[in-house]
Amino acid sequence: MSAARQLTPKQHTLAILGAGLSGLSTAHYFLRALDPPARKLARIVVLEKEHRVGGWCRAHRYEGGKLLKPDEQPEGKGDVLAFETGPRSIRPQGLLGWLTIEMAHDLGLTLDSSLVVVPKSAPSARNRYLYTPPTLTLLPSSLLSTLKAIFTTPLIRRILPSLLLEPFRPRSPLHDAKDPGAADESVDGFFARRFGRTLADDMLSAMIHGIYAGDSRRLSVRAVFPQLWDAEREWGSVVLAGLFGSLARRKGWKEASAWRVRADEDVREMGRIKARIGASGDEGRRLVEAMEGASVWGVKGGVEGLTEALRDRLRSEGVEFWMGDKGRVEEVEKVGDRWKIRTTAGEVDATQVVTTNPQLLPPWLAPPPLPSATVSVVNLAFPDPSSSSSSSTSTSSDAAPARLFPPGFGYLIPRTVPSSHNPHRALGCIFDSDVLPNVDASAAQGLTKVSLLMGGSYWLDDDGKAEKKAREVVKTGTEMWQL
Ligand SMILES: Cc1cc2nc3c(=O)[nH]c(=O)nc-3n(C[C@H](O)[C@H](O)[C@H](O)COP(=O)(O)OP(=O)(O)OC[C@H]3O[C@@H](n4cnc5c(N)ncnc54)[C@H](O)[C@@H]3O)c2cc1C
Repeated sequence: MSAARQLTPKQHTLAILGAGLSGLSTAHYFLRALDPPARKLARIVVLEKEHRVGGWCRAHRYEGGKLLKPDEQPEGKGDVLAFETGPRSIRPQGLLGWLTIEMAHDLGLTLDSSLVVVPKSAPSARNRYLYTPPTLTLLPSSLLSTLKAIFTTPLIRRILPSLLLEPFRPRSPLHDAKDPGAADESVDGFFARRFGRTLADDMLSAMIHGIYAGDSRRLSVRAVFPQLWDAEREWGSVVLAGLFGSLARRKGWKEASAWRVRADEDVREMGRIKARIGASGDEGRRLVEAMEGASVWGVKGGVEGLTEALRDRLRSEGVEFWMGDKGRVEEVEKVGDRWKIRTTAGEVDATQVVTTNPQLLPPWLAPPPLPSATVSVVNLAFPDPSSSSSSSTSTSSDAAPARLFPPGFGYLIPRTVPSSHNPHRALGCIFDSDVLPNVDASAAQGLTKVSLLMGGSYWLDDDGKAEKKAREVVKTGTEMWQL
């Protein structure tokens, strides 16, 4: 190869808009998809308006009681407290789950150094609660616990007849509409029709608060639960599809739906990913074993440990990061077959663009903006009552309760809880110390961490009193459990 050929300027420039998990992982997979000669010809520029990467993956970290700046590394005193503001736990299920595990493994995050794996047997994997004043209701997590709950839990007793009647409810005429592709209804409408009002109001609305901070009446069932919509279309009943779907496909009585064909392909691909990770050595084998039995996993010091590792690896592979004003995208324009990306303090001329925020695209290409809501996440840490009682001189009759909350994932608050019992319109409370123990030094310091989700579809205006409101919500939940 001549010197002139070696000095050929980069011919392909990929601009990635946004350095959250989506942008960083796009760069990671793009590089992996290129063979080495193609890598030499590819320039990748990640544009990010903040001075840090990670987007929603962000933990406030304290060391020795002092808040660390973004990117400031702890001094290693072992007393770091991490408060997640966004994602905290990652599910190891499905193809996306295993791709994420493989990415963490490729980045060198190991079980001993960085990863925290929570087994399926942990209380946080089994115990989920609903806020049902005057008490917290434990939701069943298995057939046995469902049978038990019929006798012990009034809510389950109320819901059961509707569940049993579901196969006899009529199929929606929407499936036979002239343009069935365009037919849709709300999540709330679908569940109320198939499973009854009580389940839709008192259970499902809480679940949607937890996943989307959203209102089940305003979300599309086809977007949120496409499998359930297809199940009704094909079988006329979600319950029948669940009970007999796989048998019917195996016997060839029913054709597999498109998503089922994809799901089967995913399972085969997951097998290949596990084999690749396992073949990488002892750590890989341990990782596959641990993740196969895991309900969720997290990263010591916070999930942003994953995005920081991605950034460091990408930098070492020659990816450019334009941060702050230099990376704040103001306009994206197509000029001939190239893209001009103007930022507050620069311009990138690219052959390809990937945006993690569709609204940054030119108006002729951007999808219509989706309505969104603001969710407040308030992290609180309390002295663990069990450690304070052990060191106090109280008698057993007035001893502090052993825990703030029962062991579990947390509780969600249905929309139907009246404002007298939920004056601050909280969506739910996550028991962080149970969901991901050992991500920081809180247990060693005798602290119990919880996070409150507030606002969301209720559009709680931030009046600066979120912390006070969050404390009141926790107090009410604790009192209900201790009743
Ligand atoms: C409170 C909360 C809790 C969550 N919990 C979980 C969980 O436990 N598990 C889980 O799997 N998922 C969870 N999620 C979802 C998860 O956090 C997101 O799916 C994921 O972080 C989205 O990453 P992203 O890169 O697509 O977007 P973002 O993280 O929003 O990143 C977008 C990036 O683009 C940048 N940007 C925006 N505009 C511009 C511009 N004009 N120019 C340049 N850069 C720009 C932003 O600064 C940001 O860095 C949670 C989300 C929230 C909000």
